[in-house]
Amino acid sequence: MLSKTDFIQYLNCPKSLWLKQHKPEVYPEGEFSDFAQKLAEEGYQVEGYVRQLVQGWPDAASCSFQDVFETNEGLHARVDMLRENEDGTIDIFEIKSSTSVKDGNPHNQLKDAAFQTIAATRAGRGIRNIFIVHLNKDYTRDGEIDPGELLVFADETVRVKGLLDETEQEITEALSLLNEAAIDERSCNCLNLSRSHHCDSFDYFNPGIPEYSIYSLPRLFGRKLEKFVAEGRFGLEQIELEEVSRLQQPIVRASNVENPFIDIADIKNFIGVLAYPLYFLDYETYLSAIPIVNGTGPQQQLPFQFSLHILHEDGRLDHIEYLADRPELPRHLVKALEGAIGANGSIITWNKTFENARNNEMANAFPENRDFLLGLVERTVDLMDVFKTGYVDIRFNGSTSIKKVLPVVVPDLSYEGMEIGDGTAAMDGWNKMINETDREKQARLRRALLEYCKLDTLAMVRIFQFVEGLVKGD
Ligand code: SF4
Repeated sequence: MLSKTDFIQYLNCPKSLWLKQHKPEVYPEGEFSDFAQKLAEEGYQVEGYVRQLVQGWPDAASCSFQDVFETNEGLHARVDMLRENEDGTIDIFEIKSSTSVKDGNPHNQLKDAAFQTIAATRAGRGIRNIFIVHLNKDYTRDGEIDPGELLVFADETVRVKGLLDETEQEITEALSLLNEAAIDERSCNCLNLSRSHHCDSFDYFNPGIPEYSIYSLPRLFGRKLEKFVAEGRFGLEQIELEEVSRLQQPIVRASNVENPFIDIADIKNFIGVLAYPLYFLDYETYLSAIPIVNGTGPQQQLPFQFSLHILHEDGRLDHIEYLADRPELPRHLVKALEGAIGANGSIITWNKTFENARNNEMANAFPENRDFLLGLVERTVDLMDVFKTGYVDIRFNGSTSIKKVLPVVVPDLSYEGMEIGDGTAAMDGWNKMINETDREKQARLRRALLEYCKLDTLAMVRIFQFVEGLVKGD
């Protein structure tokens, strides 16, 4: 069987699809499945509004949802919606949660619609028009969702039909690959690509690569990467410093676990610009395809929580937090923040791009708080930067995520065993909390959310103190 999801996976990587179908016991269910699952769940939500809208169409009776087409050679297509035309042909509607039509990897919606068209045609149906239904990026919720305003019916007949020959060929190749009882499993094409391209099957296909390898080096791609691969130099100890860039050198230097790379001058530069009190700030946000609050649009980040640790020059540490109990614009959150952050002092975040993007969005949404929020943007520094060039331990494995750094530099603090232990779980937990009717369960979720966000900023305080300790007395 080759489904639409399988076909899209094939376009991204034929070998990973073969592995999934032939050796499911060793196939690591990873990002691709998670991504496909997320898209499917959001797609169902959007489909609910399409169904609502279509009920009002004069030809509603000729529309149906989730019809299945199967072909003798193994194609399986479940079409989101189709419309029977008077001449016996059908129109195909593929429903998506994106705010535009995506025509590139990892999820090429035009190819996806071409696959459905080919399967339906081979199953004996004539296709007249092909639509991609997606969300309107300019829609802003105001009261009940208005499906007519929320949805865009993009007529992609010409573009999809233009891809049919190419897609037919790819389907033939995909089926032929899946019919192979064995493939070359000794390596895969991503050897010549940087880690961001690797899927979870990389280790299976490339078992000889050491845990800390050239793939830990940031921005290593192109000829230089190909050269190391061709020479079989995968271990960091096989790489000379002068062969890599300034940004990559700290990782090569840190390749010995006993010896992290420390650049005291770099760390001093970071600390030198800070002004007390230090405000360690972290937001949690909710991202949903369908806006859940008036005044927001599709796929918009909605801040619902912050944790703020305030470190004073004399060493005192205060903690202030906010968690919205219901879906709302972050007006109260901003007010709570404004009450907690004084006019002076640095704002310290981990990955400031995210927090500053939210501050800028909220500054646009709330003109009365604009100066305060834009002031935060000006005052924000990124503690994560220290771990790019100032302090690099090979156990970070080339990552600067706080989840990688914390266990190495502050091993007594941990996210292990927490009911909510990452941003995605926080998003999910908040959604459950605001919809929970059982008071006890709701209170438990609330506690778990507060505990998680608090740990995020406490972790930053402790990491900062670790870094500060490195330069004290130097
Ligand atoms: S790591 Fe290998 S299996 Fe995975 S996407 Fe790359 S080439 Fe395919």
